[in-house]
Amino acid sequence: MTAYEIKKQICEVGHKLYDRGFVAANDGNISVKVSDNEFYCTPTGVSKGDLTPDMIIRIDGKGNKLEGKLNPSSEIKMHLRVYQERPDVNAVVHAHPPVATAFTVAGVELDQYILPEAVLTIGNVPTCEYGTPSTMEIPDSLAPFIQKHDAFLLKNHGALTVGNTLQKAQFTMEEVEFNAVICKHARELGNVEEIPCEQLEKLMELRKKMQIPGRHPGCKKCKNLGTENCRCKHNGESHTCTCGKDAKPVDGDLVAEITKRVMAALNK
Ligand SMILES: [Zn+2]
Repeated sequence: MTAYEIKKQICEVGHKLYDRGFVAANDGNISVKVSDNEFYCTPTGVSKGDLTPDMIIRIDGKGNKLEGKLNPSSEIKMHLRVYQERPDVNAVVHAHPPVATAFTVAGVELDQYILPEAVLTIGNVPTCEYGTPSTMEIPDSLAPFIQKHDAFLLKNHGALTVGNTLQKAQFTMEEVEFNAVICKHARELGNVEEIPCEQLEKLMELRKKMQIPGRHPGCKKCKNLGTENCRCKHNGESHTCTCGKDAKPVDGDLVAEITKRVMAALNK
């Protein structure tokens, strides 16, 4: 893609975020990685609905401006933190989708597995601790979740999604909000029936088969997790269920798995 095409794509995503009501005034920001130390990002003080390619800024990995008339958003720090910690990420989208944001305001976790598409693509969405915008508090609040998720809620603030492409990060943002909307409607109707444990396991296998890029927390929020009622099949390598019984640990999770088993043994 040429520089112009990337800038144009950033603007198109900005327009969609604005049209869908995911941002008010000049809220939200978008960035794309072009090399290890070079990024395109949206400027501060401009509505995402009014973005034009000439407004897009080029910055280095420290947030210094390399090109552009306007200045980068002060919230670019959280984007740069993601790129530092996740070399697989090439785009970051930050917005304030109203229903997903309302979950963080109400103190309700967006962690129920209710829609197959959302289970496949995002899993549970963690809520990061509240931080003052433009400080290092928000980048720091992402740290505990950054390796296992592609979507994050920022407490009393909004959402952040990442992807190997800008379109993937944008789709994930839409998925987060759609999942929150359906969950809210179901709660209003008085009942939320989650996809059962053994069905989640099938979705996790499907995700692997489809080779969906990005990170996923697995079916950790299964309410039967670690209990006698957990019906996940424990059939070997790269198992994403962490109920810990006979499942082999996921690559890289060995220490966590051993720690959990030791802790479980100590509790007996
Ligand atoms: Zn924000």
